[in-house]
Amino acid sequence: MTEATDRATNGDHRHLLSITDLTGDDIDRLLTLTDSFVEVSRRRMPKVPALQGRTVSWLFYEDSTRTRLSFEQAAKRLSADTLSFSVSTSSVNKGESLRDTVETIEAMGVDCIVVRHRSSGVPHQIAQWVSGSVVNAGDGWHEHPTQALLDCYTIREHLGGLDGRRIAIVGDINHSRVARSDVWAFTTMGAEVTLVAPPTLLPPDTAGWPVRISHDLDAVLPEVDAVYLLRMQRERMAEALLPSLREYTALFGLTRRRVERLHDKAIVMHPGPMNRGVEIAADVADLPRSVVVDQVRNGVAVRMAVLFDLLGSGGDLGRDLDGGRADRRGRGPIPTDRHLPNPVAVPQVSICRESGPERIAESGEPGDGTPHRPDVPTDVSTEGTR
Ligand code: ASP
Repeated sequence: MTEATDRATNGDHRHLLSITDLTGDDIDRLLTLTDSFVEVSRRRMPKVPALQGRTVSWLFYEDSTRTRLSFEQAAKRLSADTLSFSVSTSSVNKGESLRDTVETIEAMGVDCIVVRHRSSGVPHQIAQWVSGSVVNAGDGWHEHPTQALLDCYTIREHLGGLDGRRIAIVGDINHSRVARSDVWAFTTMGAEVTLVAPPTLLPPDTAGWPVRISHDLDAVLPEVDAVYLLRMQRERMAEALLPSLREYTALFGLTRRRVERLHDKAIVMHPGPMNRGVEIAADVADLPRSVVVDQVRNGVAVRMAVLFDLLGSGGDLGRDLDGGRADRRGRGPIPTDRHLPNPVAVPQVSICRESGPERIAESGEPGDGTPHRPDVPTDVSTEGTR
């Protein structure tokens, strides 16, 4: 690993590329920061001038509803300028390479690029090319770090914390970037995770994962405090992995009958989009114990915290809010043994010289590594904005 790659993937908090780059204290600090943005979101005028003068742009090469809107709402509530980029109507369709597209966007004075791509590793690659910040909004099967943060926040909100909580993640684990980020985030915060799926939907080798494995949802449900359902990601399946969706629902769907096996306080989660009637029954999705809408709502505040942390003086605010427990600037280097389990099972992006949307340009010279942490007024409790 080159020094530049190491900086972009591990020790450099200019970016949010992987949940494994965050320690438990980092996650805790971001969740505390999120509390203040939840408060902002409840105001009559839910806006603060924290990122005035900063520009955030989206680069979404894959479909998205909630993640994209959520980042957009977060940036706007922080008073950042936003530059929207639609792949389907851009020069990507004329064969422009990813690198040229990224450099074009950055040349327009963008401070942060939020990127989603069908290939794992693309946000890491972009982080090598730009001097501003990069946030991974989902890369292939690999990771979705802000989803993991909003899931942690929602669990903390409903169950009082993650430490010692038992969480079942159910369904198409193998194709799920959400599962990979959540496993890491939940277990880092002290939760016990059980993956429940048919063998064909589990990664081929889960030996290094800090989880229990089960193929029996009925047996697991009474033991857990949260059940997290995943969508069948058919767009990522190259072969038939199930006899039929009907059989999947019969064995692994959270039906009305099955939900009764949960204890009274247990919650039901889903990252969306839900396939009602497949992994979750339509009426179960609307039960009071289903916190799917809270996940979406919390997503905005979590993403405000992430953007503010990267682009504003988040360390100062975080320190002020938590009495100095987690001073961002005082963080030591991230341990180098932190990595997502089973990386081999995750298809990585292939780097090549040709242009075009399928292939990304060759790796270029990294930036100078100077943390992009401008001093801007960032008082989120500004009275004048009420
Ligand atoms: N919205 C999540 C993602 O982008 C989950 C899903 O698509 O099923 O990965």
